[in-house]
Amino acid sequence: MAGVADVLIVEDDATIRSALVRALGARRHSTMTAPTAMSGLESLVAHPPDVVLLDLGLPDLDGTALLAMIRSVSDIPVIVISARDDDPGIVALLDAGADDYLVKPFAADQLDARIRAVLRRTRRAQVVGPLVVGGLVIDARARQARLDERLLELSPKEFDLLLYLAERAGEVIAKRELLSEVWNQPYGGADKTVDVHLHWLRRKLGESADAPRYLHRVRGVGVRLSPPP
Ligand code: CA
Repeated sequence: MAGVADVLIVEDDATIRSALVRALGARRHSTMTAPTAMSGLESLVAHPPDVVLLDLGLPDLDGTALLAMIRSVSDIPVIVISARDDDPGIVALLDAGADDYLVKPFAADQLDARIRAVLRRTRRAQVVGPLVVGGLVIDARARQARLDERLLELSPKEFDLLLYLAERAGEVIAKRELLSEVWNQPYGGADKTVDVHLHWLRRKLGESADAPRYLHRVRGVGVRLSPPP
């Protein structure tokens, strides 16, 4: 099975580096590693990854400086991994173009969830033009959804949920998948979360579970978004 993401790990600590390679490999990511900022930059230019994990404390160049160099040549998502949990520079890092950050030590599952979230955001932004499902028009860039030309007032999670389903219109999506991909909770959490949001989304679409138009419950399996007949 193909990897989820090609991840470039720029980290000088060999122990952390190999732990990350193992943890990401176990989660079906493929990895490249670089022990210095300059080798990281070379690797990134030679084989552009999907995501960069960037340690801040590197021997040859500060990670912040490397981030600026990466941003001058590429839009590749960068997740900063930092030991400086009280670093006032975190806001500056995000301003400088980091997509997310994690403070060491962190759980591998947390890293995996951040990688997936960052990839979803970038892949969504690459979608050209709005998604259309029947009378629903969903603009991922503007984060706006319209139904029959009427702007829907959706919470951020309701929008994420609608977008996720619309990108897979016609497919039955398991609640487990929604919890994992929309809520970043790969290992459980309350199924009720999904039900409650589906309920609100239904109401905003002007339909009910008993009289569905767009949101169809498939008992025991999940939910499907498809245009009314
Ligand atoms: Ca380091």
